[in-house]
Amino acid sequence: MNAISPSNTIRTGTSAENLRQAFLDNLVCALGRLPNYASAHDHYLALALTVRDHVVARAVQSFEQGVVKMMRRVAYLSAEFLPGPHLANHLLNLGIAEATREALGGIGIDLDRVLAEEEEPGLGNGGLGRLASCYLDSLATVEVQSIGYGIRYEFGIFDQVIRDGWQVEGTDKWLSGGNPWEIHRLGIAKQVKFGGHTETWTDDQGRTRVRWVPSIVIKGEAYDTPITGYGSGTCSLMRLWKSEAVESFDFEAFNHGDYDRAVEQKVDSENLSKVLYPNDELHRGKELRLKQQFFFTSCALQDMLRLVAMSGGKVAAFDESWAVQLNDTHPAIGVAELMRLLVDEHALEWDDAWAITQKTFSYTNHTLLPEALEKWPVELFGSVLPRHLEIIYGINHRFLDEVRTAFPDDDARLARLSLIDEHGARYVRMANLACVGSHKINGVAALHSELLKKTVLADFAALWPEKFDNVTNGVTPRRFVALANPGLAGLLERELGAGWPGDLSCLGRLEPLAADPGFRREWREVRLANKRRLAALIQERTGIVVTPDSLFDVQVKRIHEYKRQHLNLLHVLSLYLSIKRDPDAGVVPRTFIFGGKAAPGYFLAKRIIRLVTATGELVNQDPDVAGRLKVVFFPDFNVKNAQHIYPAADLSEQISLAGMEASGTGNMKMSLNGALTIGTLDGANVEIRDAVGAENFFLFGLTASEVSALKAGGYQPQTYYESDSLLRETIDFIASGALGGDPDLFRPVVDNLLHGDPYLLLADFRAYLDAQQRVGELWGDSDAWTSSSILNVARMGRFSSDRSIREYCERIWNVNAKPSQT
Ligand SMILES: *Cc1c(COP(=O)(O)O)cnc(C)c1O
Repeated sequence: MNAISPSNTIRTGTSAENLRQAFLDNLVCALGRLPNYASAHDHYLALALTVRDHVVARAVQSFEQGVVKMMRRVAYLSAEFLPGPHLANHLLNLGIAEATREALGGIGIDLDRVLAEEEEPGLGNGGLGRLASCYLDSLATVEVQSIGYGIRYEFGIFDQVIRDGWQVEGTDKWLSGGNPWEIHRLGIAKQVKFGGHTETWTDDQGRTRVRWVPSIVIKGEAYDTPITGYGSGTCSLMRLWKSEAVESFDFEAFNHGDYDRAVEQKVDSENLSKVLYPNDELHRGKELRLKQQFFFTSCALQDMLRLVAMSGGKVAAFDESWAVQLNDTHPAIGVAELMRLLVDEHALEWDDAWAITQKTFSYTNHTLLPEALEKWPVELFGSVLPRHLEIIYGINHRFLDEVRTAFPDDDARLARLSLIDEHGARYVRMANLACVGSHKINGVAALHSELLKKTVLADFAALWPEKFDNVTNGVTPRRFVALANPGLAGLLERELGAGWPGDLSCLGRLEPLAADPGFRREWREVRLANKRRLAALIQERTGIVVTPDSLFDVQVKRIHEYKRQHLNLLHVLSLYLSIKRDPDAGVVPRTFIFGGKAAPGYFLAKRIIRLVTATGELVNQDPDVAGRLKVVFFPDFNVKNAQHIYPAADLSEQISLAGMEASGTGNMKMSLNGALTIGTLDGANVEIRDAVGAENFFLFGLTASEVSALKAGGYQPQTYYESDSLLRETIDFIASGALGGDPDLFRPVVDNLLHGDPYLLLADFRAYLDAQQRVGELWGDSDAWTSSSILNVARMGRFSSDRSIREYCERIWNVNAKPSQT
């Protein structure tokens, strides 16, 4: 029965009239507000509830399709999601943005003000979580049934404020204003066990089985957020788990008069999904993090088993119902958990269960840093997950036999491949578990995937070359072009037709317009309007006044030494010193915009933020550089702010040390909006440069192999310092105390560079300055710059996440995506 047909009820009708009535009904009946007393936030909630009806109506129909057709569905397991505000995205995807604007306009309410009220769910640290959200968007758009499973953190990534130039972390209160997008699925709850011990028992067929007797059981409750697709009836579901105490447990203690223990257990249980870990190396080995990972992964797999039963599938053919993607190693414990569920709870034979497991999982690696590969002390692991440790030993035992056959008498190789690290203290290696349990392993950009096979996963690549693949990341053009850059969207719609966000390959048709003076003028006007809007926002948030017609030179991303925000600062300060020395120095007017959060425990990253703000304090006041240099730290870089910043960037700073950035997606977002990139041959920069053409990209710096060679030969930063007078002058200036008024303030940064310089800033400094010189020259030729900007957009179509998702569907998941138009 088709319970709701989309356009015939007040709740889901799509005319302006209908939307207005539904909005007013929600304001009064759902929120209890009379229109005359409603705040902007009430307007937001009422509109969100209105749009939610449309979204949920689609979601339930989409879901039913999946059950009826019994197609293979995709489960995207990710400890992080960074969806950004939902409302505007749904309006676009549902095609009701204009009708909604009219509906509200008719009663004196401005849609943009309403949209600005939405708080975003900050359930991720940065690129990895944002990728997961782009993929759910694209899965819905290409009409693949999918669920993104994760954790409903009560407190997501901290809010960043800048106080006296320093980052101060505030608690994220994303749920405090209410969350109209989620549906608490009271009927969908899973029990997750922890601790205790295992026992063997004999079943009625005389088989020896294992039973896990936990010391604690926690309940996971499902909260669903539907994710619409662009012009598609399919919805993805983001299903996040919130931890709760299991009533029976605390009541038992309570009844025995042990009130404290009952309360303690309840608090412990609820703490599991309380807070997102900032990505900070110092948190390695934290028990709560392991528990979080197991918690959501176990809930997800149990839920998938429930859905198999619901759609009449067979547990013994689990892999025909589900393709499960591991977004990094955070959910890698799922390999052992699926084995446990199949063998212990569904009585499958080990070998059958193992075949299913390998066909089910695939693993996306996100890092080349050996020290960033997750591992857990065996002791800790065994105390939290005793049964999983046994299963991992079982997997390892059989796996190492296979290795011995392929590579006889190679103990060193065995030790490297083993799921257990036995050098000194023993650890469970999660990347190895993910590799062994998956049929496909992919990196996130061509260079990254190649380096993976040569470095951290070399032994697995030698054993199973056919498992390795690359899927270069992509970004959703709906959020990051159509919504973020309405001016550009208008031009694209006029030139390419209204459906362009669903098929970015059509961007290629812009190419001839790069030579059209009239089009170039319109292009510049759009870009200038974006920069004006950002300038206003900068003034509002920081008090700094910037000039919209200066070159907006932008580096926004997490603050990390490998991303080299401090290399950017060396350039800024070198320009400052050059102008001070020679007031006629040919420096084009630039506004340097930085943004990004530093992990709270990352000392140097926080110093780098302070170095940006101290540079701003110096430069922005100095009449000698007025009109030529401005430096801004834009606080609280998140998806919402990103949507304002990316479209206003003229120059995209992608200057990580080659071999360090797995892919990057900020690089794609900026180029897709018309920025030119200055960058190293790192991550997806390589492919972006290939796509847009070397002449439209400012390349500099060592290659990944030159980096390895330089490090192997004993890198000496001092030699660069001594031989380059501008570099020396710039570093000495930082060390002098001229910035921030305290010579000790940046001593740690200077010492780090002069005595070690692990990310080779000094080696790349001169090449970076030369490339920046070329940037300045091209900026001086406004027509040439604009052509290049147009060509960047025209040639970036391949970086839509729709393309990435189609590749996953074809080569990794073996599911059918809606074919692309071309
Ligand atoms: C795209 C994005 C990132 C990733 O940026 P990179 O430049 O690839 O590191 C991080 N945070 C937010 C909010 C983003 O939108």
